Amino acid sequence: MHCPFCDAEDTKVIDSRLVSEGNQVRRRRECMTCEERFTTFETAELVMPRLIKGNGNREPFNEDKLRAGMMKALEKRPVSLELVESSINHVKHELRATGEREIPSKLVGEMVMNELKKLDEVAYVRFASVYRSFKDLNEFREEIDRIAQEGEAAASANK
Ligand SMILES: [Zn+2]
Repeated sequence: MHCPFCDAEDTKVIDSRLVSEGNQVRRRRECMTCEERFTTFETAELVMPRLIKGNGNREPFNEDKLRAGMMKALEKRPVSLELVESSINHVKHELRATGEREIPSKLVGEMVMNELKKLDEVAYVRFASVYRSFKDLNEFREEIDRIAQEGEAAASANK
């Protein structure tokens, strides 16, 4: 914790107490350099882990990307947006609950598959059948489009 007065790095905690029903810690600190005192408030924050991609690259968790992938799998399926959002929240909760700073992106894929399984069997199959073999989300989308078209063709053939 840098001193806000002189920017020195060494500060010491001289008092520490829980506030706002124990969700926050209020700390009195003193700068070892200029001896000024200041107060910090710390709140527990569950940080979203970074994702380790198949090639070893790290990237931040991207909720929009997750949503886009799920929506694509759920295209034209009778599942409400509300349920999709609650699934996304569930995945985010699970990710934070791991307590890990980095997790394999594959694990997120597994979590999404589990959620889709609960939401809609067709969406689950669409996702599961292509998920593992595609690294790129666009490639995945194209495959989903193809499956959707085949599904429609099969449906009209059965009429
Ligand atoms: Zn200072």
